[in-house]
Amino acid sequence: MGRAFVYVILGGGVTAGYAALEFTRKGVQPGELCIISEESVAPYERPALSKGYLLPEAPARLPAFHTCVGAIDERLTPKWYKEHGIELVLGTRVKAADLRRKTLLTATGETISYKTLIIATGARALKLEEFGIRGAGAENICYLRSLSDANKLVDVMKASSGGHAVVIGGGYIGMECAAALVTNRIRVTMVFPEAHCMARLFTPKIADFYEEYYESKGVNFIKGTVLASFENNSDGKVMAVILRDGTRVPTDMVVVGIGITPNTSLFEGQLTMDKGGIKVNGQMQTSNSSVYAVGDVAAFPVKLFGGGVRRLEHVDSARQTARHAVSAIMEPGKTREFDYLPFFYSRVFGLSWQFYGDNRGEVVHYGDFAGARFGAYWVDRGRVVGAFLEGGDREEYEAIAKVIRLKIEVKDLAELETQGLNFAVQV
Ligand code: FAD
Ligand code: NDP
Repeated sequence: MGRAFVYVILGGGVTAGYAALEFTRKGVQPGELCIISEESVAPYERPALSKGYLLPEAPARLPAFHTCVGAIDERLTPKWYKEHGIELVLGTRVKAADLRRKTLLTATGETISYKTLIIATGARALKLEEFGIRGAGAENICYLRSLSDANKLVDVMKASSGGHAVVIGGGYIGMECAAALVTNRIRVTMVFPEAHCMARLFTPKIADFYEEYYESKGVNFIKGTVLASFENNSDGKVMAVILRDGTRVPTDMVVVGIGITPNTSLFEGQLTMDKGGIKVNGQMQTSNSSVYAVGDVAAFPVKLFGGGVRRLEHVDSARQTARHAVSAIMEPGKTREFDYLPFFYSRVFGLSWQFYGDNRGEVVHYGDFAGARFGAYWVDRGRVVGAFLEGGDREEYEAIAKVIRLKIEVKDLAELETQGLNFAVQV
């Protein structure tokens, strides 16, 4: 049994939706494109799962957040794919890929062949079992990557209303879920190994602001330690977490956000890997010229950083790499090298921040930390390479992005500190 397509997108997440829209804009014909996804729903804006989806009142639900509404663009419902003659093969895992024969084998036993393949398999959440923690399969332990994870989290939150949650991990998932739990009237204790939250991006001063804000909402932080074990009841539910120093924290539920690992296993030994992902060039093309990779799974050269290869795990790079790959496929020779400005953001409670560039070099903070309107610049070899802003408006975020894009020179760090946001606004 088998079907053949000109273009196949393997994975049905954020990148798949943006790539599909771009394919139609670049003239793909009905019957030429197929998307295969393990998930049972059409591509959606994954960031909604830790934000609108978890709201206690009027939560976001599909079909409201199918791609590409996150970029204020068309909303691609299943009907849209049908109307455009795009084959959506949902609820179907690809279990083997033969890049020499240009075929994919699904778990249902179907062989799907392609002329050009886009790998859009994203990543999976790391599990506590992988760190040797036992009992981590309990029914009130939640991860958050897919819609089904989000549904479980919503159910467990409802069952724990008025109770207590332990959040493990101080990264994006930990911070956004802790805020959602508080909003759902669940008391939160966050546990993570670093000295402060969001350690890979935030400076201690920036982290202090968010931690104090979270504490004002009743969140308790236990930093610099990790989980040692779970205490489960006879029904297999977690009753308490035990930390490495022996501290016992009673709880009704647990949310785990300890990072991700890219879904590359189908391609090990067939494609060149880098930074834990699949290495691509400035056209998003892998070491096999018929195969492209985009989104969380792709490690691509960032021109702005002198061509250094990065693998980014953020929605903006997912959207842009997807569009770029489709351009390169549909308009070969016309598509320039990908020139990406790394961009990350988060929204929690009433707060909202954006970051552009790279957080290396010396840091200069500015603004009003007490009034939740502040930021930082990272300066490396006399140029601003990274910029963070909390509480800005659209023009201000555009201004800090421009500073990074233009690699603006800075002679005097004290002067930069005094000028603060004005430095960017005046560029
Ligand atoms: P994904 O969206 O993960 O899609 C991968 C798809 O491939 C999935 O559908 C998966 O089921 C499928 N798949 C994988 N393997 C197979 C296989 N073998 N066979 C069939 N199908 C397969 N980023 C931000 O910048 N801002 C945010 O606010 C933000 N919020 C987030 C909130 C949450 C809860 C999560 C989990 C992520 C968030 N991100 C955010 C990150 C962002 O969502 C990802 O960077 C983005 O989804 C990556 O897109 P992708 O298409 O590469 O992977
Ligand atoms: P992150 O990488 O952001 O954070 C993981 C956190 O868990 C870090 O604090 C990490 O510490 C800690 N950690 C790692 N191992 C352990 C362990 N064994 N025990 C306890 N803590 C541990 O990953 P997340 O899981 O938070 O997010 C998953 C993905 O979702 C990421 O790709 C992220 O970019 C994306 N996402 C993005 C959002 C956004 O951009 N707004 C929102 C939500 C998700 P250490 O640094 O020391 O390893």
